[in-house]
Amino acid sequence: MYKAYKFRLYPTPAQQIALAKSFGCCRWYWNYSLNLCQETYKATGKGLARGAIQGLLPSLKKEYPWLTDAYSQCLQYVALNLSTAYKNCGMQCRFPARIRFEQGRHFFDKRAGYPKFKSKHSRQSITYPANVKLEGDYLKLPGKVGSIYCQQDRKVVGKFVSTTVSQNTDGKYYASIIVDDGKATPPSSTEGKAVGIDLGLTHFCITSDGSKFDNPRHTERHAKNLARKQQSLARKQKSSATRAKAKRLVAKVHSKISRVREDFLHKLSRKIVNENQVVAVENLAVKNMVKNHNLAKAISDCGWGQFCTMLKYKAEWEGKTYIEIDRFFPSSKLCNVCLNKMDSLPLDIRAWTCDGCQTHHDRDTNAAINIRNEALRILALGTSATANGGNVSQPGKTSVLLDAVPIEVGNPVLFRAG
Ligand SMILES: [Zn+2]
Repeated sequence: MYKAYKFRLYPTPAQQIALAKSFGCCRWYWNYSLNLCQETYKATGKGLARGAIQGLLPSLKKEYPWLTDAYSQCLQYVALNLSTAYKNCGMQCRFPARIRFEQGRHFFDKRAGYPKFKSKHSRQSITYPANVKLEGDYLKLPGKVGSIYCQQDRKVVGKFVSTTVSQNTDGKYYASIIVDDGKATPPSSTEGKAVGIDLGLTHFCITSDGSKFDNPRHTERHAKNLARKQQSLARKQKSSATRAKAKRLVAKVHSKISRVREDFLHKLSRKIVNENQVVAVENLAVKNMVKNHNLAKAISDCGWGQFCTMLKYKAEWEGKTYIEIDRFFPSSKLCNVCLNKMDSLPLDIRAWTCDGCQTHHDRDTNAAINIRNEALRILALGTSATANGGNVSQPGKTSVLLDAVPIEVGNPVLFRAG
């Protein structure tokens, strides 16, 4: 099993310069090759294979001697990354141009994005595929950078697979180390307690056993601070030193928000996975919902996608089962006792009584119970097509989804504002 560790790095000023040079070389090589891929694609209808991109390196190094500032394996990793990015967005498949375009768009929406040019103003990173090790408190990188002081809050167990060194926009450095711990993934089992989870905005999530977890609204809490710093940035003169400083302060707030969010999601997903054997979540297609501008801010602040990813890998590590339920399943309107389906259930109704069996339902808990029951049904039938995170792609249904989903999960106040 692969596991990832993330540690903060503290490079010396000289190492910061060496890292900046490496970041620059890899970014330049990525942009150069991406441009070439696009040109080639326009001319021939095909992208460039990994070998072709890597083959550029020797002559480029002669033409641009500063490229040797970067460790050569990092540059080779860029070539691998770019060819994978092209493959993932479906640009290299052998369909006629129209279908390929559709596929490209489909993947663009659903999976990996089309590879983009990298900017020196965003997060910077380089990846070392080999020859990295930890020596005491130091991370030893090959090439010109050398050993960087590395704050480790836990012991790394396993064989190094790859190491990514990055610098965030707030100026902090991190190392993400992926290791193979040599153990096989435990066989997944469904024996034990099952839980259904309904994700929402008023509450972050509601579980089928009746627990409700408040939405922490991270951005809202830091809104004043962020607004003040953004305002001060807007007043600074272009390309001045004070502007750069103001920009870093804004980036710091953003990175604080995302760290707090991550912490919350880690703790909650850990708790849920610890307490249950089967975890069922509604497949939300978060990306499509964010297109609705009224909800976009509130939804992307929640981090539902990140939450589901955490639930999935934490469950898989421990041989537990994670299931995504089809998003067209009417989880809110269905009575979990008698399966009577309500015709309509406006969003401001938080509790209702079933016409069929007179059971009084809490809207969200009922939805979560339905999600759990649907998951157990899928498991019992053995139709694992939608289970285990298998993404069922339904390109034709995108427009239905756009209309349907926000009404189902939206916050009534937010929704009426639109
Ligand atoms: Zn009923």
